[in-house]
Amino acid sequence: MIPKTALEIKIVELSKNLPQVTQQQNELAFAKCFANYAVQSRKSIFCLECGYDWKTNDTKKLKKVICERCAKSLVVTDKYSNGLKETDYYQIITSADNFQIVRMICMTKTMRKNCNSSYFAHEVMQLFIDEFGKTRTISKNVMGMSQYYDQWIVYSELSLKSKSENRRFYLSPSYVMPNKKVLPIIKRNGFKGKFYRIAPQILFKAILSDSIAETLLKANQQDMLYYHIRNTSLKPTGTYWNAIKICIRNNYQIKDAKLWIDYIDLLEHFMKDIRSPKYVCPLDLKKAHDKLMAKKVKEIWKNTVEENKKQIDKNQRHYFKAKKQFLGLVFTEKNISINVIETIKEFLEEGCIHNHCVFTNEYYKKQNSLILSAKVNGVHTETIQVSLENLEILQSRGKGNKATKYNKEIIKLVNKNLPQIRARMKTAC
Ligand SMILES: [Zn+2]
Repeated sequence: MIPKTALEIKIVELSKNLPQVTQQQNELAFAKCFANYAVQSRKSIFCLECGYDWKTNDTKKLKKVICERCAKSLVVTDKYSNGLKETDYYQIITSADNFQIVRMICMTKTMRKNCNSSYFAHEVMQLFIDEFGKTRTISKNVMGMSQYYDQWIVYSELSLKSKSENRRFYLSPSYVMPNKKVLPIIKRNGFKGKFYRIAPQILFKAILSDSIAETLLKANQQDMLYYHIRNTSLKPTGTYWNAIKICIRNNYQIKDAKLWIDYIDLLEHFMKDIRSPKYVCPLDLKKAHDKLMAKKVKEIWKNTVEENKKQIDKNQRHYFKAKKQFLGLVFTEKNISINVIETIKEFLEEGCIHNHCVFTNEYYKKQNSLILSAKVNGVHTETIQVSLENLEILQSRGKGNKATKYNKEIIKLVNKNLPQIRARMKTAC
């Protein structure tokens, strides 16, 4: 758009006067943003950094190697086909005339066998954030029809955009240049140089426009800040916020925001006094949470049984008959243990702990499925559904029906043990 107001004209002027991004900055970011790769073929290994290749007698697939020429540590990739490209972002943080400015540089790394790796970098976006957190964007254009929202048109000009924020505002950089120039008001609002996994522009905007974010940052409640910015669930008059203020007053740091929020819900459910530090600042959050969760499972179970004892007994008998050949199956590796769920009560437990529908949707009635419970260090982590028809994993979900950080390991362990399930199927025939 053509700048019209005095403010818009000023922003465009400031943008024009920003120094050029230097080659030195690009090179530093290039080293920080990307991994270095190698390709392993039957008899050779190719370094995609310096173009060198060397013979190997290793027949098994390697994960990492050191290049014999450039001595760089390389990750062996299987994504290579006729070349390999990766794209990432880095930021330069500066300020001018009461604007916090976040400059976003898009960088593409190109790798090819027998060649040195190379990059192409171009500045794609500049965010001008005022002292109230209001943002204006100067950016290049994107391909309108592309399925990716950041498919930049390289040769378009940086220009002022009418919409102050869109999905591109939330792009996260892999690297932020040192020597940041930050407005005094941002420092006054609690910023001490760390971003706590939050993209700089999102953090700046939050602490300038949202007093809750500002308070959390100042009180060093990092995990709660991260949680709040992603969920914006804390309201100034809400239960959680009142309880957080008690934590802050008592110098209690909430290390796991999600678990703590869950715990506060449980306290409310059991009508505990959530104005009391005794309850809202537990010494061992996990233990306090699990104790109440067990109590809640017991309570729901009791109500369910009271309501419908006959039906549950019938379901249990039916489940036992349908799945008896699988009961007792346990797969263990390192700290992960996976077992077939044996009782209807365990279905309820899984459902309550992970807050998903394995109990309410009566998964125990699914004839062609086997439901397993995965625990890491003895803690309920994910529930797995395996198809007994084609013997594959249909889903593996943890809290809130989402994959956890152990998801891949859990799936790998189940896949490895599918033959055991198959063997039990045969014994039933
Ligand atoms: Zn090399």
